[in-house]
Amino acid sequence: EEDAALLGGWDQDELEPQDQPAPPVLAVVGRPNVGKSTLVNRIIGRREAVVEDVPGVTRDRVSYEAEWGGKVFTVVDTGGWEHDAKGIHQRVAEQAELAVDVADAVLFVVDATVGATSTDEAVVKLLRRKGRPVILVANKVDDISQEADAATLWGLGLGQPYPVSAVHGRGTGDLLDAAMEALPEVTEYGGLIPRGGPRRVALLGRPNVGKSSLLNQLAGSHRVVVDDTAGTTRDPVDELVELGGRVWRFVDTAGIRRRQHMAHGSDYYASLRTQSALDKAEVAVVLLESSEVVSEQDVRILQLVLDSGRALVLAFNKWDLMDEDRRTYLEREIDRDLAHVQWAPRVNLSAKTGWHKDRLVPALDKALASWDTRIPTGKLNAFLGELVAAHPHPVRGGKQPRILFATQPSTQPPRIVLFTTGFLDPGYRRFIIRRLRETFGFEGSPIELGMRVRE
Ligand code: GDP
Ligand code: GDP
Repeated sequence: EEDAALLGGWDQDELEPQDQPAPPVLAVVGRPNVGKSTLVNRIIGRREAVVEDVPGVTRDRVSYEAEWGGKVFTVVDTGGWEHDAKGIHQRVAEQAELAVDVADAVLFVVDATVGATSTDEAVVKLLRRKGRPVILVANKVDDISQEADAATLWGLGLGQPYPVSAVHGRGTGDLLDAAMEALPEVTEYGGLIPRGGPRRVALLGRPNVGKSSLLNQLAGSHRVVVDDTAGTTRDPVDELVELGGRVWRFVDTAGIRRRQHMAHGSDYYASLRTQSALDKAEVAVVLLESSEVVSEQDVRILQLVLDSGRALVLAFNKWDLMDEDRRTYLEREIDRDLAHVQWAPRVNLSAKTGWHKDRLVPALDKALASWDTRIPTGKLNAFLGELVAAHPHPVRGGKQPRILFATQPSTQPPRIVLFTTGFLDPGYRRFIIRRLRETFGFEGSPIELGMRVRE
């Protein structure tokens, strides 16, 4: 009841990340090599030349905050998006489609030195269907003698082509003026790309647990492959997937897809992949076989997630194979082997049939919201004050360590530091973490509890 009383005076909403109106979104689309990324760099005023002639430059972001004439907007760069064996035509169209879906206005970039190609015409058709304002960019018009090339692009039927040189900056001011006029004040398309870019998710689990099946099931037709490793392979590394009305970034999916062609991934290889995916992710979805016992490998993977400090969602896959007997055993195993992660949201699903796949997004949202949570210092100390008054630390060797003050210096994951007059028992620290969870939620996020001891 004491916790209920504590919560009484508090506004739980204050603990949630605040939603601000999202700025309008400007998508930059077009064929490969027309200069989209160069133009994006120009727009966001980035100095370093990240655009290289080598295919497969790794770009780790797709959206950027930018400003022109006092207006803040988000630029979506499709420049690094992969186009593979599926055929360049279809790829470009798919990429453009996802970008346009999230955009309030579109910069359609054409290489004026090449002129309109059949791929360009296919994109124009798509843009017409979508009905967003489109500004036609005739790029690579480096000097006035090339402006005649730009004029031929009237033929695309998108109105006036804006001749620019993304490399030299020529004409980009007029272009941006036109873009600002086309953009609304706040985004009308729901901010499909969250501020700060798509949230980054790692799909983890032992071989054959169903990772690639789940990825295929989630991606469906809305899959966009991004990023290329710079090495000899051309495997896509990350994929952007639209789920629950937002774009998510599934990291390091190459390992998942590649496994389809391998007999059996070694344990060593699997743990390397797990680690590399965790390094890039914010939240891990650990898949477990609901029809088989929780294995040592499962526990090891979970330990890697815990060590990484990432948010966690547990997905019990292959639920279509579940029967009553197995279900009873599974609940027991969960109590026994997964007690240390009972704070993680749990989703029972079937990657094969798609059953319950829509439960993943609410679980991810919950875990990430917890991971982002900051408890104001006043609340934290009020909570601890009442907790310690009701349950003081046991006396050890005639001394009783006291907690003087607490603060949460960081999030992702939440890290709380206690200033004390002596070391707190591990059992007492676990008790505090348990009570923090009971009071503030933190479902799906680890909590780090640090101490500063004043002797
Ligand atoms: P993307 O694939 O559409 O993102 O194209 P990039 O931005 O990577 O550019 C492809 C190539 O075109 C690069 O070699 C750029 O340096 C070059 N490029 C981009 N913009 C211009 C421009 O305005 N003028 C000229 N001459 N080259 C450009
Ligand atoms: P990965 O190694 O983790 O990527 O696993 P895969 O996605 O390749 O799946 C391994 C095997 O399990 C394949 O034969 C899948 O068809 C099967 N599988 C995956 N998910 C399910 C599921 O939900 N139910 C059933 N019955 N089989 C599944």
